[in-house]
Amino acid sequence: MNAIINEINTPTPHSTGSLKGKTIAIKDNIVTTSTPTTAASKTIHNYTSPFDATVVELLRSHGASISSKTNLDEFGMGSHSQQSFFGPTVSPFKRHGVALSAGGSSGGSAVAVAQGQVWAALGTDTGGSVRLPAAWTGVVGFKPSYGLLSRWGVIQYANSLDTVGILSRRVADARTVFEALNVFDSQDPTSLPRSVRQRIAARKERNSAKGLRIGVPTSYIISELSPAVRAAYSSTLTSLQNSGHTLIPIDSPTTQQALLAYYILAPAEASSNLAKYDGIRYGFRPPGPDARPKLNMPLYATTRGQGFGDEVQRRILLGAYTLSSEAMGNYFLQAQKIRRLVQQDFDRVFAMSHPLHDNATSSTGDESGKGVDIILTPTAPILPPTIEEVEQQSAVERYMNDVFTVPPSLAGLPAASVPVALPVSVQAELGADDVKTAGMQVIGQFGDDELVLEAAEIVE
Ligand code: GLN
Repeated sequence: MNAIINEINTPTPHSTGSLKGKTIAIKDNIVTTSTPTTAASKTIHNYTSPFDATVVELLRSHGASISSKTNLDEFGMGSHSQQSFFGPTVSPFKRHGVALSAGGSSGGSAVAVAQGQVWAALGTDTGGSVRLPAAWTGVVGFKPSYGLLSRWGVIQYANSLDTVGILSRRVADARTVFEALNVFDSQDPTSLPRSVRQRIAARKERNSAKGLRIGVPTSYIISELSPAVRAAYSSTLTSLQNSGHTLIPIDSPTTQQALLAYYILAPAEASSNLAKYDGIRYGFRPPGPDARPKLNMPLYATTRGQGFGDEVQRRILLGAYTLSSEAMGNYFLQAQKIRRLVQQDFDRVFAMSHPLHDNATSSTGDESGKGVDIILTPTAPILPPTIEEVEQQSAVERYMNDVFTVPPSLAGLPAASVPVALPVSVQAELGADDVKTAGMQVIGQFGDDELVLEAAEIVE
């Protein structure tokens, strides 16, 4: 399957603006009026929205040409863009002749950018879905702070985590798109109000990204990495140090628990969000009479059993269970507590306090006590696996790819994945068609989106 689900041929009415003449693809879980918006699910494969998402309207109003809708894992649930009603997304990269994972769930957007089909693309990032495919296809992926970009018209997966993100070949291009989209939207109840945006802008800004204090969560991270990613991470850190930046070891005690918490919280929200796809109000409904006495199955179960793919059904069941009265205390509430701890961990290490937390404790989590400006981690623990390897993996093994992207998602922080060249010795072992970069993740304090982009440009 191509990365593109639908082409859009509507001309752009505006010919001026910061995105004039730029072609941009949109992940197919962001609604557009000119083509169906499917979320790659049979459930809504012929649904066309009566309105455009706010981010789509903004792109157009800045002169962009919206060229296509891109493939994804159904409803954004996945890390390889293989679980789509339209078939898997194929990465342009191969390892010894075998196709590699494009990453997911915004794999279609990443591949469209990597292949030069579009100038940039929008994705959504709930726990890493923009950053992971960016890392595995050699492009830039930026997830802004939660609440900056409008979610009006974004098909929900897990509302408290869902964030519109940007994929592009250069960090500067991601910034141009971000600046066009970074406005308050009264239609999105989680859009940060103007007063908060002003408070963020008024904070004492660092003058520039020169002489950064970079947090390196070494102890846990190093043991998790494949040798290729570890080599790329080390050489990136060394070159940053050689350019005058300071590396500061930091603790990340909740990283491992963060992944567990995410895979409880995200399915819980998903099970609630997806309850509306019942075959009655809209969307797919199996043919035949409403009542199914012979099968002894109500319409709701048949519709959802046939409409949703296996992974989506797994998440719905998991979420419904962890929200049930007997499991709530052991799972959902514990996961909420871990989410708080993850947020506190970040607040402790950043020099900047969190603009939304009144009594933020900052600057005590590193050895110097001064706090760090950004944190640098690899985006994923491994290079993209082959599709054959992915097919052998259990669901839990697939979830492991999100171990570094999930913590900033739980805390709503800005994070960018930037491709860096693999060391020559690593490249020598890879075939000509293999990916030659690894993604490095820059994480910033809430609202420090510009600093994250500046730091990403330094790493680039
Ligand atoms: N891989 C993660 C998941 O399946 C992240 C998905 C996303 O960010 N949309 O939940």
